[in-house]
Amino acid sequence: MRKPMIAGNWKLHKTLTETKELAARLADELADIDTIDIVIAPVFTSLTTAAEAIKGSAVKLAAQNCYPEETGAFTGEVSPSLLKDAGCEYVIIGHSERRQLLDETDLFINRKLLKTLDAGLQPIFCIGETLQERESDQMLEVLTEQVKGGLANLTAEQMENVVIAYEPVWAIGTGKTATDEQAQEAHSFIRGLLQGLFSQEVALATRILYGGSVKPNNVDGLMAMDDIDGALVGGASLKAEDFIRLVRFQKP
Ligand code: PEP
Repeated sequence: MRKPMIAGNWKLHKTLTETKELAARLADELADIDTIDIVIAPVFTSLTTAAEAIKGSAVKLAAQNCYPEETGAFTGEVSPSLLKDAGCEYVIIGHSERRQLLDETDLFINRKLLKTLDAGLQPIFCIGETLQERESDQMLEVLTEQVKGGLANLTAEQMENVVIAYEPVWAIGTGKTATDEQAQEAHSFIRGLLQGLFSQEVALATRILYGGSVKPNNVDGLMAMDDIDGALVGGASLKAEDFIRLVRFQKP
């Protein structure tokens, strides 16, 4: 019922030439896939180049961030509607690197989600606990706060366009993946939160991706879990062969 999604977060990597090469190769080699949403998120300066390279293919474009205002005196920022104009369908919002390095709050993230939806783009909304929070038994509390804060004032109808990415901070870029069971437990908890905040229908329909060192050698186990609907991938999205293998994950 929930269409799987494999999304690559390229972070601060790849020149225009490299973007063009990788995006075009993915578009070409994944042309036969229509049962999975395939998304790439290059840096802002490469978005239009990537859009051109994937035009008409199964690969869709995401931005890695946005600012929650349309126009105005916001030097250095980019609005959701400008991202749409550049060819994006999705925006990653609330990534832990931005929460940690740039002090993004749940309130600010919520404003971005609302503006993104207003502009007709789909947010990929990231949440996840740090190692210290997990080890001090605060994981469920942290996830609850992030979900409630980030999704405040959204309607059930708007939730149809929201994708959630559960990314335990201790697993991002560290090579340490959550076990299939740890990820499933968190996803099932998040789905329960959605049921309480919205409805069972919303909880069952919302896609929840796992992110944190997803690689060709662990993707199949993660994707076999009931509540894992896809992956948000950093490192392994930068190499064509690895990302293609992730998109072509095997269901047992
Ligand atoms: C990410 O950046 O969202 C991520 C999960 O990175 P990695 O796959 O490298 O852990």
